[in-house]
Amino acid sequence: MTRAVIAFGANLGDREATIASATRELAEGQGIELVAVSPVYETPAITDAGVDHDAPGYLNGVIVVETALEPHRLLDVLQAIEDRHGRVRAGHWGDRTLDLDLIDFGGREQFDDRLELPHPRAWQRAFVLQPWLDVEPDAVLPGRGPVAELRAAATDEVRRR
Ligand code: ATP
Ligand code: CA
Ligand code: CA
Repeated sequence: MTRAVIAFGANLGDREATIASATRELAEGQGIELVAVSPVYETPAITDAGVDHDAPGYLNGVIVVETALEPHRLLDVLQAIEDRHGRVRAGHWGDRTLDLDLIDFGGREQFDDRLELPHPRAWQRAFVLQPWLDVEPDAVLPGRGPVAELRAAATDEVRRR
């Protein structure tokens, strides 16, 4: 079994309901056991142009799992759950009902067309680092260092719900 950290984000529709059912679906997945679910944070939308206070805000958090799956198979599960929640891939960083990113997979570092580990932008995102820290205070992001230090340096706004 490998410990994996998954970040969720939702900024359209009934965000709480989407997150609750996505969490349940993940927990019910073959070869996946839920270890921890973080508190939820309210964060402004970020687009290619920067923070967009006019776009609907996000609810963000992380889920820690233990899994028997390989990383690509776990990503398949995450994408299937996104699809079930009506995720439409409408442009980079566009609004979405549900986004599930694989942040860390047992400290592995790997890269291909479909999957990069650890997630290449997690290190600078308070909306990932803060909830991760809440559930794993001693977490380390491979190649980047302690999550607590990265969190202290991150500047995006996060507000505990
Ligand atoms: P960001 O990656 O900056 O958070 P995003 O979540 O909006 O942006 P998506 O459109 O959801 O990006 O994903 C684009 C592609 O990224 C996916 O199709 C997936 O194959 C790829 N990808 C690469 N590494 C990862 C990862 N660690 N977790 C999730 N998807 C990844
Ligand atoms: Ca994302
Ligand atoms: Ca994504």
